[in-house]
Amino acid sequence: MSAAAEPKSVKVNKTSGAGMEIEWKDGHRSTYSFVFLRDACPCALCDDERSKSGRKPGDPMQPVAGALPMFKAMARPTEVEGVGKYAIRFVWNDGHQHGIYSWEYLREVCPCEQCKAARDSMKGLEEDIAAHGKHSHKH
Ligand SMILES: [Zn+2]
Ligand SMILES: [Zn+2]
Repeated sequence: MSAAAEPKSVKVNKTSGAGMEIEWKDGHRSTYSFVFLRDACPCALCDDERSKSGRKPGDPMQPVAGALPMFKAMARPTEVEGVGKYAIRFVWNDGHQHGIYSWEYLREVCPCEQCKAARDSMKGLEEDIAAHGKHSHKH
């Protein structure tokens, strides 16, 4: 595991509801709101829902067209527990509890501007490679 995916310190502000802060071994700091974490739940169910609706991890859920606006309590964990040395698990106030957030995943979805920009440029790069690949064997 690289230092970028190993937390030096993890702070979960469960009581205040302020979210989770991670300081990584490479010096990077990530701050996640609980709402973000709930919407980024990595479990198979949420992953499936995200791929169907085209949502990225952490993007807010889109309200269903035509549905009555319903009061939704802000996501907050009722329980937080470490999973071995590699992950953290939340039990959410809406009863959802199947997501296991590995440090690697959390670093991957870091919502800070720097990481967002890096992810966007990475995406452009992948598209470039894919476009080149199509023509690389034609001479
Ligand atoms: Zn989930
Ligand atoms: Zn970041």
